[in-house]
Formats: sequence, structure tokens, C-alpha cells
Amino acid sequence: MDQAPLLDVRELRKTFPRPDGGELLVLDGINLSLREGEIVGLLGRSGSGKSTLLRLIAGLATPAAGAVSYMGRPVSGPAAGIAMVFQSFALFPWLTVLQNVQIGLEALGLPRDEIRRRSLQAIDLIGLDGFESAYPRELSGGMRQRVGFARALVVHPNILMLDESFSALDVLTAETLRTDFLDLWSEGQLPIKGVLMVTHNIEEAVSMCDRVLIFSTNPGRIVGEIGIDLPQPRDRHDPGFRDLVERIYVEMTARPGGETRGSGGRHERFPGIGIGSILPRVSTNLLSGLIETLAGGAYGGRADLPEIASDLHMEVDDLFPVAETLQMLRFAEIEGGDIRLTEAGAKFATAETDARKRLFAQQLLTYEPLAAHVRRVLDERASHQAPKSRFLDELEDHMTPDAAEQTLRAVISWGRYAEVFAYDDHTATFSLENP
Ligand code: ADP
Ligand code: MG
Repeated sequence: MDQAPLLDVRELRKTFPRPDGGELLVLDGINLSLREGEIVGLLGRSGSGKSTLLRLIAGLATPAAGAVSYMGRPVSGPAAGIAMVFQSFALFPWLTVLQNVQIGLEALGLPRDEIRRRSLQAIDLIGLDGFESAYPRELSGGMRQRVGFARALVVHPNILMLDESFSALDVLTAETLRTDFLDLWSEGQLPIKGVLMVTHNIEEAVSMCDRVLIFSTNPGRIVGEIGIDLPQPRDRHDPGFRDLVERIYVEMTARPGGETRGSGGRHERFPGIGIGSILPRVSTNLLSGLIETLAGGAYGGRADLPEIASDLHMEVDDLFPVAETLQMLRFAEIEGGDIRLTEAGAKFATAETDARKRLFAQQLLTYEPLAAHVRRVLDERASHQAPKSRFLDELEDHMTPDAAEQTLRAVISWGRYAEVFAYDDHTATFSLENP
């Protein structure tokens, strides 16, 4: 391999300023390369820094350390030759499809008829022939997303970056667009040399990519790489395909929140969390629903994660937070791509409402440090009250204001269900009054 890779990222690090003056580390030690002819997937939970990484690569943001080089040259500003397709496209409603696509080229200062010729070609290529003079409101979601692809392809970029470009579409539309895209790619019809695609959909990654890089969260790091050499077109039911999906599930659940979370690290049976851990907002209905499903006859207390995801029609981003919250509360454990109810989980499944609440309270106060902290503060105060801001400030030392709000909201809903404290939405106050 004597040719320079299309893209080379070395020891990239990105931080964002925090309100208290500190720094939030979002990406750390990122190394990756993209070679000509490759589709490389970036797979990770929401918040693992994938979109931030694409922005750094496109030269739209500056790293704290490390370097990006594009075809052997350092990127230091918006890079021509790298185009992006987002989850949903902001099309100009007052412009036609053709005009919306031409916009991608106008900045390049090409002659009018060249702009028109190339735009029509891109529109034709991506399956929008006949819709040149339609307005965005006349198009379905899938068609609008095709306009987004046409706008990116019309500049003939060397690298196309997809940021969850199929995730806002319904299942069938997404599948059609993926298939069309892959057909054009394998026939060599796309005016691009390589693709870097972000997704949180494991099956999408296995169906499209030559290689998949797996991200941890807090901070985002690449913690695994899986090569996929199944021939195209790929069949989701093929055993080789299923094996890869399973392997990726195992990799992704082996490191729930990245290595910095908890003291014991990823080899512990139950990864520990600290008060500064970001919690997902998972309702107690979802938690008890998954416990009941696992306990039910179909599974008998244990299930393969990919299997239960497909039985429940849940995607990774839906299922993982629920499964991991159960694991955090020791109602279940996740190992090797399987989820298994613990004794407490099995007990919860058969208990009556009041007994469930007591059990939930016990697990919450024992294993979730923030809930235990809130309860301790309320116990210690003579008034048995504390304002929400008291805890938000504390959380914001460890995370962004949005994440702090989300985390506190999660603990409020669990604490209310378990009746370990009360929270008044109007006065934004925690209390022990009739919890
Ligand atoms: P992903 O695309 O993997 O979901 P993002 O790259 O969007 O993740 O975000 C990664 C982390 O960086 C998140 O915690 C997010 O809150 C934070 N973040 C992203 N952009 C900014 C910003 N401009 N300022 C502060 N924090 C940010
Ligand atoms: Mg993103």
C-alpha cells in the first residue's frame, strides 16, 4: 500500500468548554484511516462524539490535539473534496429540486451550463429523474433525502461522509435507498472514492461497510474494529451476517460506558458508575416491561440481545439504555451479547406492585449513587427539602447542562416510582413529603 490513504486521522482529541470553566473531553486518542474504495462505519451510542469527529474531519471544527490529513495534506479549514449527508436535509422550500442541488455547486464558480449539466446528472443518478422541477413539499421523506445525497454528490467529492443518513426514514424507504446507494457504489457510478458513515444501526453497518470501528462513550474512543468481508449484495439472514451482528453486539455491550466510568473497569461483572455518570432517561415502564419479557416463557430469564431487539422491534439506541439501566440496578447482567435476569430481577418479575416498589427502591439506593446522594441530602436537612439547582450545579461539574438535566430527570422518575423521594415540578424542589 504505497498510496497515501484518502484520509488519515492521528491521535485526535476534542474538548468543549464547560460552564464552570473546565473542559469536557469528548474525543480522545482517535486514530483511523480511510482508503480508496472503502466504506468505513463508525458505530457508537448517541453522545460518543461521532458527529463531532465528522465535523473535525470536514475542517468545520478544530481539534484540541492531533491531526487530520486528507490525501496526504493536513486539513485546517473547510476541506473541498469532502461532502456530508445529514440525518435530514434542510432543503430550501422555495427552490425546486434542481435549484436545491445546484446550490451545492454555485460556490465553486463553475459556468452556468456546467452547473446545470452536473446537477441533472446527479439527480438522475440518485433516482430523482422527473422530479427536477418539484418543490420539497411535494416530495416524500425518502425523496427529500435523495435530494440531500444529490446535493452532496454533485460536487464530485473524494470522500462522502454520511451522518446517520438513513435513520430518519421508515424501514422500507431506508432499505431502498441503502440498496440503491450500494448498487451505484459497486458499479463504480458514484463520483466518490471512499465513504465514512456514522450509524447507530448495527445491521446497517454490517450490510454496507467493509470495516466497522466501535466507539465508547465519555470520552469517545475507538475500542474495537471489525472487518466485514462478506460479498455484496449481503443477505441479512446469512449465518455469516448474523455472526457479525452478534460479534458487534458483544463488543458494544462489553464496554457500556467507556473505560473511565467506574473504578473497576470493564472486566468487572457489573461496571460501576459514579455520581458524574450520565444516565439515560428510561421510564420505569420500559424497565419493568423488559424484566417481564425476559422472565416470560419465551426466554426463561435469559436472551440473546440481537434476538430480543428484533422480537421487540427495538434498535440499539432504544434497547441498550434499557438493558444497561437494568444492569446498573442489578436486575440483569449483560455478558457476551446476552442479557440474563439476576435473582432480584426474577423476584421483581413475579412481585406485586408494592413489593416491586420496595425492591426497586432498594436497588436504586444501593447501586445508583446520584439517587442515594439526593436521598442523603434530604435526610440530613432539617427541612427535608432541596432545590433542583442544588444537584444540577453539582452535575454540571461533570457534564454538559443538557446531560445534567437529562440525568437528573432520569433519577427523578425512578425516585418517584420507588417512592424514595418526592419532586414538585412547579417549585423544582425535592422533598421527603409523602414520597
Ligand atoms: P454523537 O454524534 O456520537 O451522538 P456528538 O458528537 O453529537 O455525539 O456529541 C458528543 C458529545 O459532545 C456530547 O456529550 C455533546 O453534548 C457534546 N457536544 C457536541 N457539540 C458540542 C458543543 N458545540 N458544545 C458543547 N458540547 C458539545
Ligand atoms: Mg451524531
